[in-house]
Amino acid sequence: MLATNKLIKNSEEFYNKTIIEVLRELKNNNRIDIDIYKVIVAKVYFKDGISKLVDLTYVLNDNIESIELKMEGDEEALEVLRHSTAHLLAQAVKRLYKNAKIAIGPPIDIGFYYDIDFEESISDKDLEKIEQEMKKIVNEKLPIVREEIPKEQALNLFSQLNETYKVELLKEDINEDIVSIYRQGEFIDLCRGPHVLNTSYLKNFKLLNLSGAYWKGDEKNKMLTRIYGTAFFTKQELEDFIKKREEAKKRDHRILGANLELFEINEDVGSGLVIWLPKGEKIRYIIEQYLRDLLEQNGYIFVRTPHIANSKLWEISGHLQVYNKYMFPIMKVEENQEFILKPMNCPFHIKVFDYKTRSYKDLPLRIAEYGSVYRYEKSGVLHGLLRVRGFTQDDAHIFCTPEQIEDEIIQLINLVTKILSKFGFNDYDIYLSTRPDEFVGEIELWNQAEQALKNALNKCSINYKINEKEGAFYGPKIDIEIKDSLDRKWQCSTIQLDFNLPRKFDIHYIGPDNSKHYPVMIHRALLGSFERFLGILIEHYNGEFPFWLAPTQIVIIPISDKFNDYSLKVYDIIKSKGYRVEIDLKANSLNYKIRHYEKSKIPVMIVIGQKEQETGTVNVRLKHSQEKTTLNLNSLFDLLSKLGHSQEKNTLSLDSFSDLLNKLE
Ligand SMILES: [Zn+2]
Ligand SMILES: [Zn+2]
Repeated sequence: MLATNKLIKNSEEFYNKTIIEVLRELKNNNRIDIDIYKVIVAKVYFKDGISKLVDLTYVLNDNIESIELKMEGDEEALEVLRHSTAHLLAQAVKRLYKNAKIAIGPPIDIGFYYDIDFEESISDKDLEKIEQEMKKIVNEKLPIVREEIPKEQALNLFSQLNETYKVELLKEDINEDIVSIYRQGEFIDLCRGPHVLNTSYLKNFKLLNLSGAYWKGDEKNKMLTRIYGTAFFTKQELEDFIKKREEAKKRDHRILGANLELFEINEDVGSGLVIWLPKGEKIRYIIEQYLRDLLEQNGYIFVRTPHIANSKLWEISGHLQVYNKYMFPIMKVEENQEFILKPMNCPFHIKVFDYKTRSYKDLPLRIAEYGSVYRYEKSGVLHGLLRVRGFTQDDAHIFCTPEQIEDEIIQLINLVTKILSKFGFNDYDIYLSTRPDEFVGEIELWNQAEQALKNALNKCSINYKINEKEGAFYGPKIDIEIKDSLDRKWQCSTIQLDFNLPRKFDIHYIGPDNSKHYPVMIHRALLGSFERFLGILIEHYNGEFPFWLAPTQIVIIPISDKFNDYSLKVYDIIKSKGYRVEIDLKANSLNYKIRHYEKSKIPVMIVIGQKEQETGTVNVRLKHSQEKTTLNLNSLFDLLSKLGHSQEKNTLSLDSFSDLLNKLE
């Protein structure tokens, strides 16, 4: 009768009972052996094939085929737990601030938030007080009760409660005649649900911070206070999250970027515009070279195109009509001459495709550029390297035939996984977004393309999730989300098919049938932009770049000026081998220098004194390693070349240091 503990087949004996009643009954009769308190919500599968997530107080009927229990550890269950904690937050706020009005409180990637209109302004200090009130409500174990009422009645109810935002939602965003409200104690919220059974489920939560947010994201509306929080099933998970979050704060790339002299954003130059300082530029250059070599090996051709273009170009591409709000204003120069800073590189690459007649034999054509683009972002959303106004994409556009899509995607997936693992990103989620309701291009082409994307992902043995109907109107896409060393998720790589621009620009290739065909265009950026990717890398590595990326790889420190000559000789030899090496001939003490270079996170320190000079050796220490060792120069270069090949680790552990040295013998 029961397939598994988590999937319960509905039967007549369960009709007119709630799911929680059924669970208790099954448990009492020893027909299931799960901890009922760990069941958060349930998914019911209807006989007509539809399914939905419901409260455990949902009453079963004969339209239902089966019930899937969503337990602790399940992603959907976690979302419900977090969203229920948002309600808890709102209730606590309403108890403490009688005139506060609540807006919306959805779950998000790291937890949840609730937007609230406070009469008085509140600060981070108030969060603790709100948290205390939340804990009280948890102890009250208030049942969370769903009610379905006519919309008119809901309008009256929320008007009486003076919840003007809920009234607005009801009037403007909700079309149903019957709406659901949820009560917990004295608190009432308008919500689709589902939620946990009662407030005692909400034990492991924390309020994180405050920010401002316009109602409905529209700056013409009132600025509300957004309270962020998070919740987990276990205390341990919550503690781990808080620890990582604190670590992340310490690793803020804006602070590390300044300390390590990597980049600067200077208000005189303009907010959102990055000045790469010598060390940051060095890292960027190394990545650019690495990537370019790899792409050229994979058949890409590099081009370079202007930073501004005639406004007509953006009219043809459609950007002027649909992307206007991210574009800087038009520059008028002479009569009838208007230019715009480029927000994208696509139209230029179309011109590269189209500068001569193309045959199917020329395809696929992979046109790459480190293309600097400019997009207008509001000052308020700018954030270090992560959100800027000028940035350089590792951009490319592939022009191919529909039949070539699958092979191109396979090549792209292999490239992107290779590149990401070079930076130590081995954990990622891949999403395939499919045709939305409104689209351009023939439906057969869409189907063929979506199938090709799926085949490619399957052939690469990649697990992926499908975002149904989330593709752009011009084509399906693949997004890749990486997880950094602090388990934070970032979206960098994107692969986007486009059936639209080739038509807008009316570009063709001549097929084997001797007639003209539109090529399929694939937009793809693997790192995203150098700015954002480096921002992520700085935090991922905590500023301790691996040997191959470190702007300075080695620093040489003579113990006193008696050893300067020998040290300079060693410096010249190391430099001549192409390593990035510095020498410190200043008069500071050895201890001071070692502390200083520890802080500047240089991977290898070489100390030279009497013994080294006499024996023609060097004394080497790796960052963070208390161990030192004396090596002759041949062994030193063996060591350096091995370090150069260790990509992911920022430094080698003690064990591997000794291992390495053993291998040198
Ligand atoms: Zn809710
Ligand atoms: Zn593009």
